Amino acid sequence: MKKKILWFLVILLSVELIILGVKLFQPHNQLKTTKTTTSSSLVDVASQETTQTSEKNKHSDDIDTSNWITSDTTISFPILMYHSLTKSDDGNTLKLPPEEFKQHMEWLKEHDYYTLTPEEAYIVLTENKKPKENIVWVTLDDGYLNNFTEGFPILEDLKMNATINYITSKLDNQYYFHEDDMKKMTDSGFISIESHTVSHLDLNTLSDEQIHTELADSKTWMDTTLNQNTSVVCYPAGRYDERVEKEAENVGYKLALTTEPGYASKNDGLFALKRVRISPGYDKEAFGNYLLSAQ
Ligand SMILES: [Zn+2]
Repeated sequence: MKKKILWFLVILLSVELIILGVKLFQPHNQLKTTKTTTSSSLVDVASQETTQTSEKNKHSDDIDTSNWITSDTTISFPILMYHSLTKSDDGNTLKLPPEEFKQHMEWLKEHDYYTLTPEEAYIVLTENKKPKENIVWVTLDDGYLNNFTEGFPILEDLKMNATINYITSKLDNQYYFHEDDMKKMTDSGFISIESHTVSHLDLNTLSDEQIHTELADSKTWMDTTLNQNTSVVCYPAGRYDERVEKEAENVGYKLALTTEPGYASKNDGLFALKRVRISPGYDKEAFGNYLLSAQ
């Protein structure tokens, strides 16, 4: 009997030595991967924060999606639509106090929402998989100066991603942010600058040639100045038709945003994505309820 126990201990010790050996000889990064995929949500949060800062302007092919969640049904998710972040005294529903914007971002953070970059949104839509259970794409239209002075610090503080759709004819306008501000924001890794055309005209009322200029010239300026492949166009006032959709694809955009209400899904077409308009007047809780009901 004593012999049996002794043998058992010898075997147990050998097994432990083997496990220890395997662990020691495993390459460092491999250990890290195993940790991320198997361990608690605390590690997931940490790895998510690294992803949020390090994947600035990455081509969608470079994004590691091995830990993403695949889905059997078509994924749909909210693309939030904001404009100016300022208090309004004239009842303008396109203006939203920065404190409200902050509360909305905090609600998303507290409810474990991951804020997508344009490149990640493209993967979600085309490959039907997502980096987290709850995902959202925060977009702000036009490029108001207050997006830089008020919105950017809030997003940077909370380590959240957002996309600003800029009108390139506003580069000399005092109410809009400019090239240096853009670079500060894109350098942070949290803000993507995408196109809202050159002059914010209703694209569906223009000639084919004008449509081309509005879409192509804004993209070329951003590609060159920001050293990126501008992949998203946001249709001014949400106006578009079949010609506009075709030309957007033709000049090299990969996604286009409308103002039609609802969650975004590839079923609507990549050049006709719906968004959730955020008007002023929602505190944290009201925002959450509205977001969940806006599907
Ligand atoms: Zn606009």
